[in-house]
Amino acid sequence: MAILRQLQKHSEHNQLLVREEKRQYILLGTAGPHEPPRVHRGNLQGKKLSAGGEGHGSSSANARLPGSPGRGASAGGGLCPGTNSSFISRGTPSQALGERPRRRGAAGSPLRPPTAPATRSVLSHSASPRFPGGRLFQAGPGAFSSPGASLLWLCTPEMAAPKVAVVGAGVIGLSTALCIAETCPSCSVMVLSDQFSPNTTSDVAAGMLIPHTYPGTPIHVQKQWFKETFTYLFAISNSAEASEAGIHLVSGWQVFKNTPKEELPFWSDVVLGFRPMSEAELQKFPQHRFGQAFTTLKCDCPPYLLWLEKRLKATGVQMYTRKVADLWELHSEYNIVVNCTGIGAHQLVGDEKLFPVRGQVLKVHAPWVKNFIRDGDGLTYIYPGIHRVTLGGTREKESWSLSPDPGATKGIFDRCCSLEPSLRGAQDIKVKVGLRPSRQCVRLQREVLSQGGVKLLVVHNYGHGAGGFSVHRGTAKEAARLVGECIAALQGSSSRAKL
Ligand code: FAD
Repeated sequence: MAILRQLQKHSEHNQLLVREEKRQYILLGTAGPHEPPRVHRGNLQGKKLSAGGEGHGSSSANARLPGSPGRGASAGGGLCPGTNSSFISRGTPSQALGERPRRRGAAGSPLRPPTAPATRSVLSHSASPRFPGGRLFQAGPGAFSSPGASLLWLCTPEMAAPKVAVVGAGVIGLSTALCIAETCPSCSVMVLSDQFSPNTTSDVAAGMLIPHTYPGTPIHVQKQWFKETFTYLFAISNSAEASEAGIHLVSGWQVFKNTPKEELPFWSDVVLGFRPMSEAELQKFPQHRFGQAFTTLKCDCPPYLLWLEKRLKATGVQMYTRKVADLWELHSEYNIVVNCTGIGAHQLVGDEKLFPVRGQVLKVHAPWVKNFIRDGDGLTYIYPGIHRVTLGGTREKESWSLSPDPGATKGIFDRCCSLEPSLRGAQDIKVKVGLRPSRQCVRLQREVLSQGGVKLLVVHNYGHGAGGFSVHRGTAKEAARLVGECIAALQGSSSRAKL
């Protein structure tokens, strides 16, 4: 209420500021449409510490292979509301039973973030003017990705810099941290992860933008996530950063042995030029009777993850190597914790609805392969990237093994060669294994953990299964919106405490 009254009181002034901000964005917006607001927090001190050992849920043939991750330890677990946000007071996580959370600023805290030097930002200073009782921020014109979807967050002075920890540095954690930094320049955002690229599941992925369907999430929501991701990456693919970010358009065919029930998938009007294959095209695939031709986007995953890290550093987000055993560890240092731990959430929050679907792929040198070919069953695919071609694949539910399976390697290679015989000449075959963090639906949800009267605000964003790259930007934007709701809740409680 206090915030509402404040907003009403200053609404005229606010409109002026918003208009002014938009003008600032236009004046500053010299880069491509995907460019986030240029917020410089000064000389960045955050540094990524070297990540040793194996990735969570990923491995390559050369890698040392760890044992399987432990199975769910704590209670709790996920509700499955699609994009619904819920505000639930939960019991004590079993891992933290009997422990009192550390107070803010407690001595001996495992991570004490360095203080960022107080250099002023071009945009946060000029485009986020102060006004009595608070500070107005605008999520840039869709943070340059979805015009019109602007969001205003009001940060009162005592909450001027909410501290947000994003746990996880796969495509979901990095893109979520970026969306939060873009939509709330006043937030102090940290990425904490036990592994960074190249040791994450996201590094193993083929990175094709062909959505996987989540049975527990409404189709229109999935389509929205995909569309936002496609639009964002399409803008990058049309910019001078395309090569560094590893994003490119790729055309090709999805072929079926029998005509599928659904001839027009829900995403057919998001990708470019979707159409049935012609008879002439189908002649290339004598074992297949039906096919769809279209152009989509592909991320070369390790370069894209590095590009995201670079963007994060440029917006003042710091990154630290740290394994989080319990989300309560972070309570003393952060106002909000965002859980983007992929398959790691099975252990971290004891989500029994989350299970691994093991995937093995080959990354080969075959530069003459320019078009993608995907068998409609989704098991066999050939996805050319900028430097290497990904050949897939396998799908083994509930397998935690990160060891490459030589039998699967041969099977993948033979299946791909039957679709594209020229692959027999492929060179330098590397085998990669990753664990898809699978669930009926992505857990994209706000949760309030409660322990001995102390509350911890958490936003979950994990469980993207076989389609994390295809929807990452859409789910990251939704997670950032949920973080905005948490900030509003914190401000509400701090205002009430003062009354
Ligand atoms: P991850 O990449 O696993 O990241 C999780 C992060 O959390 C890691 O940094 C990890 O170290 C960290 N972490 C975990 N637990 C903890 C903890 N306790 N403390 C601190 N840090 C922690 N998707 C597509 O859209 N298109 C494709 O073509 C595609 N191909 C794929 C091919 C294969 C073989 C596989 C395996 C997957 C593929 N996917 C594809 C799916 C995609 O890879 C995933 O959906 C996506 O990578 C999930 O990203 P994530 O960030 O949630 O998980």
